[in-house]
Amino acid sequence: MPRITIVGAGISGLCTAHYLVKVLSSAGREAEIILFEAEKVPGGKMRTIREDGFNMEWGPNGFLTNKPHSLELVKELGIEDRLARSSDLARKRFIYSSGKLHRLPETPQAFFTSRLLSLSGRLRVLGEPFAPGPPAGVDESLGDFAKRRLGREALEKLLDPMVTGIFAGDPDRMSLRSCFPMIHDLERKYGGLVKGMIALQKERRRTGEKREMSAGPGGVLMSFDFGVQTLIDVMADRLSEGLHAGVAVRKVSRREGRFLLSIEENGQRGEIDTDALVLATPAYTAAEALAPLDTALSEALSGIPYSPVSVVALGYEKATLGSPLDGFGFLIPRGERRKILGALWDSSVFPNRAPEGKALIRAMVGGVRGPELAALPSGELIGLAREELRAIMGITAAPLLARAFFHDKGIPQYLVGHGKVLERIDARLSAFPGLYLNSNAYRGIALNDCVLQSRLTAERIAKELYEPNR
Ligand SMILES: Cc1cc2nc3c(=O)[nH]c(=O)nc-3n(C[C@H](O)[C@H](O)[C@H](O)COP(=O)(O)OP(=O)(O)OC[C@H]3O[C@@H](n4cnc5c(N)ncnc54)[C@H](O)[C@@H]3O)c2cc1C
Repeated sequence: MPRITIVGAGISGLCTAHYLVKVLSSAGREAEIILFEAEKVPGGKMRTIREDGFNMEWGPNGFLTNKPHSLELVKELGIEDRLARSSDLARKRFIYSSGKLHRLPETPQAFFTSRLLSLSGRLRVLGEPFAPGPPAGVDESLGDFAKRRLGREALEKLLDPMVTGIFAGDPDRMSLRSCFPMIHDLERKYGGLVKGMIALQKERRRTGEKREMSAGPGGVLMSFDFGVQTLIDVMADRLSEGLHAGVAVRKVSRREGRFLLSIEENGQRGEIDTDALVLATPAYTAAEALAPLDTALSEALSGIPYSPVSVVALGYEKATLGSPLDGFGFLIPRGERRKILGALWDSSVFPNRAPEGKALIRAMVGGVRGPELAALPSGELIGLAREELRAIMGITAAPLLARAFFHDKGIPQYLVGHGKVLERIDARLSAFPGLYLNSNAYRGIALNDCVLQSRLTAERIAKELYEPNR
C-alpha cells in the first residue's frame, strides 16, 4: 500500500487529507495517509481562542459564499447545523477617512451620494467605462490597475484599504492577475468593470440567480457557532491516528525512488520515507525543507514574501463602549497614517463571540505598512490598539480582556511577477513526480481557495500515484 505524507495541518493540509480519503475510496484505492504538524495543535492560522466566554479568532473569521468550495466541504462533513451566518450588519462596512468613519457604499446610488470620495474622485470613477484598456504583456500592479480604471483617489480610499483588509499588503507592488484573477479576467472579457458587472447581472437574471450588484465582497460571510476552529476540529478528529501533532519535517531528500523526510519530535530526530509528499506549509518552510533536494526550487519558494500581522482582541462590557458597533468594522487607508490597519466588530457579526452584554473587537496591526508595529511586545501592542480605538471610535473604557496574537509571517504577498515564480516552481516540480506543494502561498489566500486547491491536489495525487510509468 503506498504511503502519502502531508506536512502541515492548516486548512490546506487537513483538506488535502480529507479529499484524498474521499477520492481514493471512491476509486477503490488504498493508501496510508500520514499528516505531520509542527505545532502541538492543528489549524495553522485558523484557530479560535476560548476564554471567559469569549471566542476570539486567532486569524480568519470566516469564509464567503461567493465561491462554493468551503460550503461544499461543510456539507460533506455533515456539519451544516453548526454553521453561523453573519448578521446583516456584516454588510455595513466602514472606511476611516479625514477623522471620520464613512460607510462603504454598497450600491452605485449610495456611492454617488457618499462623501468618502470628493466629487471629482466620484466623477473619475464614473468615467470607468471609458478608461484605457490593459497594457499588453504586463503583469500589472493593483495600484496601476486602479489608477488606470478608477483614478488615484479610488485607489487610495477604496482599493488600498481593501488590499490591506485581505493581504495586509501594498497595492503598488501586488499583482492584479495573481491577487484578483476574476477582476483581471472580467476586464479582459468585457472591456471594463461596469460593463462586466452589467453583463454578469444579465446572466444571473437569465439563470434566475438573485444577487445584487455590490461594491462590497460578494456572497455571505459564514463561520461556525463557536468559531472557525470547528472546521479544523472536525477534520482533525476524522484523521485520528493519521495526524501527528508536534512533529516538524526539517529536510526532504530522495532514497531509492522515494522521498526521505528528516523529522523532529520533542528534540528527537528521525526519518520516514514516503511515495507521495504534499508540503502544505508556508512557502518559506517548504524552501528550507527542499533545499537538499533542489536548490533552484528552494530559491524560487524563498522568493514569495509574507506580511506580518498582529491581532489584538479586546473584550468589553457593551454598556461602557459608547458605540453601538452596528457593522462589520472599519479599514484605514494608508494615507491616514494611523497605527492600526482597521478593526473588526466580531461580536456584532457572529453569535457567541462574546458573552451576553459584552462585546468583542479585534484590531489588526502591522502589515507591510508597519512591520515594526506588528512586532511590538504584547503589552505595548494592546496599549497601541486601545489608543487608536479611543482616537477613532471614542472608546475610553478599560477592556475586560485583552490578548495579542502574532503572525510574524502572516499573509503571502502575490507580488508583480508571482505568476512567473509559480511557473518556475512548476517547472522544477516536474522533475520530482510525487512531490506536491499546496498552501495559501500559491493560488489564493482565501479559505475557499485553500479548499479548492486541496481538492485539486488530492485528485492529482489519486490520478498520478497509481500510474504505472510514474
Ligand atoms: C490575521 C489573518 C486573518 C485572516 N482572515 C481571513 C478571513 O477572514 N477569511 C479568509 O478566507 N482568509 C483569511 N485569512 C487567510 C487564511 O487564514 C489563510 O490563507 C489560511 O488559513 C492558510 O491556510 P494554510 O493551511 O494554507 O496555511 P497555514 O494555516 O499557515 O498552515 C500551515 C501549517 O504548516 C505547519 N508547518 C509549518 N512548517 C512545518 C514543518 N516544518 N513541519 C510540519 N508542519 C509545519 C504550520 O504549523 C501550520 O499549521 C487570514 C489570515 C490571517 C493571518
